[in-house]
Amino acid sequence: MKNEQEIIEIVRKQHMFFNSSITHTYDFRINELKKLKEGIKKFESQFRAALKDDLGKSEFESYITEIGFVLHDLTNTIKHLKKWMKPKRIKTPLLSQPASSQVLFTPLGVNLIISPFNYPIELTFAPLIAAIAAGNTAVIKTSELTPTCSMEIQKLIDEIFDPAYVAYIPGKVPETTLLLKQKFDHIFFTGSPRVGSIVMEAAAKHLTPVTLELGGKSPCIVHSDAKIDIAVNRIVYGKFMNAGQTCVAPDYVMVHQSIKEEFLEKIKQRIITIYGDDASSSPDFGRIVNERHHSRIVNLIDQDKVIVGGQFNKADRYIAPTVMKGVTLDDNVMTEEIFGPILPVMEYGNFDEILDTIAKLPQHPLACYIFSESKTVQHELISRIQFGGGCVNHCIQHFVNPNLPFGGVGDSGIGIYHGFNGFERFSHKKSILKAASWFDLSLIYPPYKGKIKVIRRIMK
Ligand code: NAD
Repeated sequence: MKNEQEIIEIVRKQHMFFNSSITHTYDFRINELKKLKEGIKKFESQFRAALKDDLGKSEFESYITEIGFVLHDLTNTIKHLKKWMKPKRIKTPLLSQPASSQVLFTPLGVNLIISPFNYPIELTFAPLIAAIAAGNTAVIKTSELTPTCSMEIQKLIDEIFDPAYVAYIPGKVPETTLLLKQKFDHIFFTGSPRVGSIVMEAAAKHLTPVTLELGGKSPCIVHSDAKIDIAVNRIVYGKFMNAGQTCVAPDYVMVHQSIKEEFLEKIKQRIITIYGDDASSSPDFGRIVNERHHSRIVNLIDQDKVIVGGQFNKADRYIAPTVMKGVTLDDNVMTEEIFGPILPVMEYGNFDEILDTIAKLPQHPLACYIFSESKTVQHELISRIQFGGGCVNHCIQHFVNPNLPFGGVGDSGIGIYHGFNGFERFSHKKSILKAASWFDLSLIYPPYKGKIKVIRRIMK
């Protein structure tokens, strides 16, 4: 563990290192990204074992949602970095002529990256990749809830990076609190809205800009014209991946009353088809991160409303994939982000009921999923519901596309990243107008007598 003096010293050294401008060049950034890629490959088996240990993740999920995701992000970033770094030419208005205008992408400086427990590898390295690509330094703090993953991440970072450039700070809340007292140029936080507001409050003291990637209750709407089999396959996939501990998982389903019974029957069958009669023996189904979260999630289950699942085992941190029907906003399961393998299903008759339900919940959803074959229905729901991002006829996939900006809206998050948007998030867009000196437009200088008519003609 690091004490306050050591933390102050690390942040001071990072500011010095950043001010040396070493991190700014393309060559430096690309070398560090390549080094990181080799490091991730080298640590693949350790990460896989750690993810199994902390979260019971299968090899497939560990690769597709964590290790492979990060490698793919690195490949994409390395491939496009030169293009992303190019200054962007911008038009110059007549009154400033002769001149040229451009936007330069300059690094923000020293960043604090705080990651959550649910995708420890992906949600630590994806922001780090963007930070490196944009020419920054970074201090990393991961979650204490996944100690094995945190230990392996620390080993990798300590092995390949100079701490004046990228430093790992082990510890729990006290260490994060000490970090938050320091002056950073940007804080990138992924986690709960509760801690997000602690981070934002601490950042406000130094006027440090923040990116907050938060959570919330993400609705999934299944309209009467949806292809039910497709909807069922994709909702079960999105909900029960990582035992429901996914920020963009469909939190609850609102299904049109005309197809409710068929939907519920099919969802029940689908869970049994892919995880078997007893999901605790499926190699593909994960575990809850710790006992505290296990008890919290179990308390959200109303056994009288369960149509499939409902079993749990504290010693194994197991909760069966569970579906509850006849749920209303008064049920416990609708009072907080579930972040576990429970799928509450509510029914609706018209769109106002959907909008009313969403409006009664505390936050704007981070994600929203709409299953319908009708372009009109899709358009109406997309435009009337305020949410960060989402999919039509799928779940989670908008997160996976590196070309789509990812983030929340309002209280589900501040700022977007992924691919170029991540590079941009960790960059300052520095505007430069380069004026020519071979001509001097006297029109804009006093004395103004007789000039206003011309100005009026130009500026209208
Ligand atoms: P959390 O907010 O409890 O913890 C996140 C980080 O903050 C951890 O590193 C933790 O050590 C630290 N932390 C916890 N308490 C703190 C405090 N009092 N002061 C300072 N730091 C503190 O979140 P979690 O339980 O790890 O993750 C689940 C939450 O994260 C869910 O709400 C989920 O929706 C959200 N999430 C969002 C995204 C996204 O990309 N938008 C991704 C994953 C998870």
